[in-house]
Amino acid sequence: MDSIVLFGPPGAGKGTQAQRITESTGLPQVSTGDMLRAAVGSGTAVGLEAKRYMDAGKLVPDNVIIQLIIERLKKDDAKGGVMFDGFPRTIPQAEALSQIAHVSHVISINVPDAKIVERICGRFTCKTCGFVYHEVFNPPLEIGTCDHCNETDFKKRADDNENTVISRLEAYHNQTSPLAQWYKSKGILCEIDGDRNIEEITQDILEALN
Ligand code: AMP
Repeated sequence: MDSIVLFGPPGAGKGTQAQRITESTGLPQVSTGDMLRAAVGSGTAVGLEAKRYMDAGKLVPDNVIIQLIIERLKKDDAKGGVMFDGFPRTIPQAEALSQIAHVSHVISINVPDAKIVERICGRFTCKTCGFVYHEVFNPPLEIGTCDHCNETDFKKRADDNENTVISRLEAYHNQTSPLAQWYKSKGILCEIDGDRNIEEITQDILEALN
């Protein structure tokens, strides 16, 4: 079956939207960032290599990422297609993807650079279920308790700080944004204004997918 790609700069809301639309689409979220953080957390060889790049706000080498994706797509839950979040981020990654899965829609969530820093610096997640929040724009309904799983422990990502954001944006503009044109020329790019409230963006994405 078809897969979809959520595309956009860091802090555009890809993870937030993936969590919201996974139920309607039935597609599991495949986030290379989450997979890398899990590898870093468990101290695997991939994690150790990736950490150097992630801490510096740079992209992890393509061969590492492509191998992760190949392994992930072998799992049973990926047989009916997946929702990629944060992958592909380079043309070689997109080329590799085109060999192993069929992508029907690339949803580009557009947010101006000026908004990215405040979005990323206020971001935090539930330690238990990974649900994403923002101190100002998207706090839990009851402060201190996760809306999704009712747990009370939260964490911030190590790379969600002002220094790293600048490098992450640079990597996005130099290495990732050319992919928008690449997918546009294939006729599967849907551009969404990501500088609005979360619900409106979700509605637009679901409409684009229908
Ligand atoms: P994310 O959670 O998507 O913001 O990713 C966090 C960090 O993981 C990025 O800044 C990169 O260092 C690394 N990363 C995640 N996905 C990729 C990818 N597809 N290609 C290269 N590096 C990635």
